[in-house]
Amino acid sequence: MPKSLVIVESPAKARTIKKYLGKDFDVEASAGHLIDLPDNRLGVDIEKDFKPQYVVIKEKKKFLDQLEKAVRKSEKVYLASDPDREGEAIAWHIVERLKIRDKAYRVLIHEITEKAVLEAIRNPTTLSRDRFEAQQARRILDRLVGYQVSPILWKKVKRGLSAGRVQSVALRLIVDREREIEGFKPEEYWTIEAELKKLLGDSTPFVATLIRFKDKKVDIKSEEEARGVVEALRGEKYRVALVERKERLRNAPPPFITSTLQQEASRKLRFPVKKTMSIAQKLYEGVDLGDEGPVGLITYMRTDSVRVSEHAVGEVREYIRNTYGLEFLPEQPNTFKVKKTAQDAHEAIRPTSILRTPESVKPFLTEDEYELYRLIWQRFISSQMNPAVYDQTTVEIEAGEGVFRVTGSLIKFPGFTLVYREGKEEEEEDKDEEKRLPELVEGEELMLVGLEGKQHFTQPPPRYTESSLVKELEEKGVGRPSTYATILSTIQEREYVIKEKNRLKPTILGRVVTDLLVEGFPEIMDVQFTAEMEEKLDKVEEGSINWVQLLKEFYKEFSKRLKNAESSMRSLKREGVPTDVRCDQCGAYMIIKWGRRGEFLSCSRYPDCKNAKQFEYSGNGEIRIKERSEPQIRHDIRCDLCGEPMVVRSGKYGKFLGCSGYPACKNVKRFQDVEKGGDSVVNLEDGGKGKKQGKRKSFKKVSSSKAIEA
Ligand SMILES: [Zn+2]
Ligand SMILES: [Zn+2]
Repeated sequence: MPKSLVIVESPAKARTIKKYLGKDFDVEASAGHLIDLPDNRLGVDIEKDFKPQYVVIKEKKKFLDQLEKAVRKSEKVYLASDPDREGEAIAWHIVERLKIRDKAYRVLIHEITEKAVLEAIRNPTTLSRDRFEAQQARRILDRLVGYQVSPILWKKVKRGLSAGRVQSVALRLIVDREREIEGFKPEEYWTIEAELKKLLGDSTPFVATLIRFKDKKVDIKSEEEARGVVEALRGEKYRVALVERKERLRNAPPPFITSTLQQEASRKLRFPVKKTMSIAQKLYEGVDLGDEGPVGLITYMRTDSVRVSEHAVGEVREYIRNTYGLEFLPEQPNTFKVKKTAQDAHEAIRPTSILRTPESVKPFLTEDEYELYRLIWQRFISSQMNPAVYDQTTVEIEAGEGVFRVTGSLIKFPGFTLVYREGKEEEEEDKDEEKRLPELVEGEELMLVGLEGKQHFTQPPPRYTESSLVKELEEKGVGRPSTYATILSTIQEREYVIKEKNRLKPTILGRVVTDLLVEGFPEIMDVQFTAEMEEKLDKVEEGSINWVQLLKEFYKEFSKRLKNAESSMRSLKREGVPTDVRCDQCGAYMIIKWGRRGEFLSCSRYPDCKNAKQFEYSGNGEIRIKERSEPQIRHDIRCDLCGEPMVVRSGKYGKFLGCSGYPACKNVKRFQDVEKGGDSVVNLEDGGKGKKQGKRKSFKKVSSSKAIEA
């Protein structure tokens, strides 16, 4: 009997699904996209309605051949690639290329469990042209920007740079923030704080802050002024004027979506966004649980919907009742507002079964997988629990012409915080913190223990962290669940941004590229424009906008900008970027230029003065000149004549390898020869740390065009 074939994108997912489907089904993995735009050219026929020129990705040819054979043997083909735009495109291309439209079905598997997989196979749908075209439009748009703007940067600044439709806007946010910080003028202000305690009974001291003085809101700018106020209030009687008690509720947080998972994993586990996504992918595709075999532990991790299936809500409510008791269980399930852009077929990120506790799966997970799973598990439980209840007390204290205030907060009922507390950015206040006050009554007199003025300065906004940037991008409507991780890793890989104390700081290169792009491509660099474009792409998916029309409209303006930039964009290759470093040969200022081997300092009087220096950035971003460094010894590469390690040297034609036994042994090698000959892949970019890498990541690919879109 002919079998049915299920096609997914990864071997791990194939293994997990295979387990549930039994022997009547073959499951094959496509290894991601098989068909895509070509690497080495634009691949879009702009004149002919932006017709894409798809090619089979070279390394994927064998997977396609394999699929073709499997398809011929099967009566039905189920395309079960991931349930989003990218997955739709993978499925669509396979169907087109293998011409199997008559026997192809699309299945959307949001969680890889027996129940969900069987249900999905029993209720297949057809491929969605709208969803495919939305992916295609996005792909082409990103390609046009990436492949047409980047070469201009190569000409004007240096080779290997990249611009990207969403990536460059994200970079701009970081650069703008940095300038805001640099331009920030801290303002001095003072607070007046009184330490007080009861005359009798509970003698715990507490601190109240002056809020009004002489019937005006406190606004003290100088030490002198602060002194005057302290003098005036020191001898006064301190009396409780007002006690106000209130109950404050804090509601449970919604279950995770992609952006909130990335933020919390960054705050609480210090995971970079990219790492979070790759671990989440593993948990979704299936982890081997000993005798049970592979099991998908969480629902699909690329989603912007907080919707939860009824079945999962039922399960978690029962778990809460049994584990924590009825007082933690709301009468009705908690519901959360779904954003209007959310794709509604999607669900929030949650465990596929709440009964699989983190402890029970811990033996089968790596430490990182365990941490992330636990985060998702706890967050989901807490999302269906009762609010936390705080007793909040506000007390006002009068002293002469001054009014002080202090607020106390006590947890009355922990609610969801019993299981999960939300992480916070460093600069945010802790909403869960308790602050105890002694029992106070109106009219009561208090003893003044101490009275002092405290100096403060207003603070600039903080640099973005990965998590606060994801939050900002989401709030501004830039990027989608599938793109945040790529955006963040690309701007760092391109050295537009570095991480300093976990915060994102633009490099000089990042700044100059941003400035050039803002000048040359104001729309592309505009947050609002980008957000609107994302919305239009969503509408292509809904079927209410035609993708060719959308691209035509975009390209009309964009092509003008391109032509203009070609001719009028400033060339930093010639001009360089000014610095305050003096040339040690002629005293003129040095400027930063970009050469084949990266940034360097060149005398601004070049060619009259040919002084040039290598440099690096010190911790605070200042330029530090690097004196000629010691040759790098590569212990991983041995001389094939005498066996001594080779050394990286620089010559007229760039870097090469020389034998460290020189002058006794005069053997020299080109990097290319070493790469071809042995198993060591030499990577010039890794600073000679001699890391071995897979063949595909050899240094020749570093500036290939493949990665310049994102
Ligand atoms: Zn000079
Ligand atoms: Zn040698």
